[in-house]
Amino acid sequence: MERPAAGSASGEPEQQALFGWPDAPPAQAAHQPFRDSPQARRLLDVREVYAEPAALDSPRGRQIMARLPGVRVTEVDSHWRIPSLHGNDGNIARWVRIKTETLVLGVKHTLATRPNGRSADWIAPGPSNGCAMACAYCYVPRRKGYANPITLFTNIEAIVAHVRRHVRAQGPKTTPNQCDPQAWVYDIGENGDCSVDALVCDNTADLVAAFRGLPTAKASFATKFVNPDLLALDPQGRTRVRFSLMPADDARLLDIRTSPVAERIAAAADFLDASYEVHFNLSPVVLRPGWQRDWADLLIHLDDVLPARVKEQAAAEIIMLTHNQSLHEVNLGWHPRAEEVLWQPAAQETKRSQNGALNVRYAREIKQQSLTRIQQLLASHAPWLRIRYAF
Ligand code: SF4
Repeated sequence: MERPAAGSASGEPEQQALFGWPDAPPAQAAHQPFRDSPQARRLLDVREVYAEPAALDSPRGRQIMARLPGVRVTEVDSHWRIPSLHGNDGNIARWVRIKTETLVLGVKHTLATRPNGRSADWIAPGPSNGCAMACAYCYVPRRKGYANPITLFTNIEAIVAHVRRHVRAQGPKTTPNQCDPQAWVYDIGENGDCSVDALVCDNTADLVAAFRGLPTAKASFATKFVNPDLLALDPQGRTRVRFSLMPADDARLLDIRTSPVAERIAAAADFLDASYEVHFNLSPVVLRPGWQRDWADLLIHLDDVLPARVKEQAAAEIIMLTHNQSLHEVNLGWHPRAEEVLWQPAAQETKRSQNGALNVRYAREIKQQSLTRIQQLLASHAPWLRIRYAF
């Protein structure tokens, strides 16, 4: 079977450095937006837009299209149903190209905030759905299929107004919890990566600006991409960015198209100095020979390179891998080496979810032992890194 475009000389997908700090320091953003740089275009170089007419007609839709002169536009009834983009059949060989060159514009009709209680107090209606990156374990494509490119929701004013109303309805947070001692935390990036969305639109900037004016709340999003343009958004401490980390060998195999882990770590101080709160997602933890040694090395590296001011405010989530049978089968078609570590039936148990999907996770005892072990490694090598939750 033909493989996607991104691949190593050996024919196997692996993480590619999208940019190197020596060639593209954050200061570059002062002169030219990072999103216009060749490095950004390697990830996202939009050649084709599928759009709902209402999304095209909206102010955000017009702003996005103004930055994409000459790009072909195909109108669609719904961002949910674009057979040539969604699903996996026929798209496996070209989904990196789809993710790189295609953008979808839609209107988010259902604006609902859901309780969470683990990483965040609340899951806000996200400003996007889909991703230009291609992590082998990603759950985001569960409804549109693995080839899903970014869908941007253009009714961002409605999303922001909904979130503002929800925050105000809560009043102040009076009981500290694992999400945050003072602020209600809203995850704004459940189904995409806000750092990458910011390469093509201002939805992330609008949400960061909204939370700047909400002293009882805080936005939060996980990211695997370092976008220096975010340094200019002035969140004033009301946005938490969570850089996802895993051992570099795992990331090279599994975190396809993302910023290398060392660059995510190197960016932490810049984001803190730009008034973000900076946390880390140690996730997913993938059990394979040598995992304990490699996680120890990662934590030692964090301890060596992060400045004290980052350590003082840092906290972490630890999330063990969950996987899915249909994703396993898709991955066998393009990245079988990833499945050698992700699919471990002897160590995993299955559970059918409400929508009928067969989800896979480490068996209870193995998971508990592994979580205990990684917490021991943290205590030994990065004792300053408070664990917000481990799951
Ligand atoms: S960066 Fe996040 S949303 Fe994007 S493919 Fe990876 S896990 Fe999925």
